Amino acid sequence: MDQKIITELRQAIGADRVSTAPEDLAAYAYDGTWLETQPDVVVHPQTTEHVAAVLRIADVRRIPVVPRGSATGLAGAAVPVPGSICLNMARMNRILDISTADTLAVAQPGVITYDLQKAVEKLGLFYPPDPASVYQCTVGGNVATNAGGPRCLKYGVTGDYVLGLDVVLAGGHVLHLGGRTIKDVAGYDLKRLFIGSEGTLGVVTEITVRLIPKPKAQLTALAAFPKLADACQAVGNILQAGVVPLVTELMDSATTKAVEDFKHLGLPTDVEALLLVAVDGDAELVQREIVIVADILRRSGARDVRQAKSAEESEALWEARRSISPAIARLARNKLGEDITVPRSRIPEMVARLHEISQANDIPIVVYGHIGDGNLHPTLLCDRRDGAVMQRAAKAAGELLGAAVALGGTLTGEHGIGVFKRDHIREGLDANALAFMAGVKALFDPNGIMNPGKKLPA
Ligand SMILES: Cc1cc2nc3c(=O)[nH]c(=O)nc-3n(C[C@H](O)[C@H](O)[C@H](O)COP(=O)(O)OP(=O)(O)OC[C@H]3O[C@@H](n4cnc5c(N)ncnc54)[C@H](O)[C@@H]3O)c2cc1C
Repeated sequence: MDQKIITELRQAIGADRVSTAPEDLAAYAYDGTWLETQPDVVVHPQTTEHVAAVLRIADVRRIPVVPRGSATGLAGAAVPVPGSICLNMARMNRILDISTADTLAVAQPGVITYDLQKAVEKLGLFYPPDPASVYQCTVGGNVATNAGGPRCLKYGVTGDYVLGLDVVLAGGHVLHLGGRTIKDVAGYDLKRLFIGSEGTLGVVTEITVRLIPKPKAQLTALAAFPKLADACQAVGNILQAGVVPLVTELMDSATTKAVEDFKHLGLPTDVEALLLVAVDGDAELVQREIVIVADILRRSGARDVRQAKSAEESEALWEARRSISPAIARLARNKLGEDITVPRSRIPEMVARLHEISQANDIPIVVYGHIGDGNLHPTLLCDRRDGAVMQRAAKAAGELLGAAVALGGTLTGEHGIGVFKRDHIREGLDANALAFMAGVKALFDPNGIMNPGKKLPA
């Protein structure tokens, strides 16, 4: 990048907020995937005005800008593109307001999601979105990916909690969208366009989120199902009984074996599926509901149901779920984590297709996910040093995406399109809708500087 532009950036937002140090360029080259591209410069804005100044310069000079939260993304969306400015939002990390009167919070985008959760919980409030990366990821990154998590069946995803956004567009224009009210139908709801837009339309610099009262208690049951299809049916049966579970987490037999080998928790490894179900609410209600849930799990075909009677026992059951990522990481040198979603009733067919795809391509696939919302994370075990394996893994990934769409599902439930799924997006989205999306992109970012090469097809 021309040194004049670096100087311009330093003059605009302060020299200590602009770095071209080789160690910074290397450190900011990644996200949660294995992709790697160094930016030409890393900038660390601390105010909306700083972001506007950077985007003004970038737009005039036609320099690509890649916003970045904590870079835990699993689609390559925060990986810089060649010649780009990495816009690191981590220093905009203040919680600006928590209002018990209006049950909302206002945060800068670099606030770590867990920090927001804990801050509101101190006041008896609850911010439900809970991606498994909650200790690392940012609220801004969650908005830009419309992050989900295990609690979505009951509480929805990040976008369901966003009341207002401040957004800076290419060129430095600032938009104030939405506000502090739950109802708001004045004008078009532009803020929804930015939720899940993966930094391709603008930069989120302030977020107002809705909060709810914190549920007082939570209890968990863990059930072993000889037949995976029965575990899926059990979730439907629980809902039909009038209980909306907090989480319904599925682990297939390969995932269970991996966790058991890693943690030795005494999990049954001779069943097709483990199902973790949690309920939350008032203490009395939770005690009643967990009994109903355990009963339904048994009647739906579970062989072994462990029912927590206290918060401590619940925690012990959660250990299995929490250990999935590190347990799978021990199975192969690399893993390709997918994120398909299908209608809940189609999960057994989807899992059967995954086994076929795994065998046909000779690529081991382990499956776990949030089955209440049909969101599965088939994880392909591979080794990046082996070109033939990677080719087969890419083919298997393409096939499983196609299978999800064929079953009425979608390419991604929560991780986003980023770079990884760009080549498949035409399979998953209507051509007319894609043309309108390209029009939206051109409207907000006419010079195409915002995170180019991500989200939409080339
Ligand atoms: C172990 C692990 C578990 C995970 N579990 C889940 C899960 O349960 N559910 C889930 O949904 N995801 C999950 N993820 C994926 C990831 O954590 C989420 O996508 C998260 O929302 C990304 O937040 P981040 O701050 O790391 O954003 P980044 O990865 O830095 O960025 C993600 C995208 O958002 C854009 N962006 C970031 N900040 C802004 C901003 N202020 N304005 C505009 N665009 C911005 C970036 O350009 C990029 O396109 C997991 C990841 C890991 C590593």
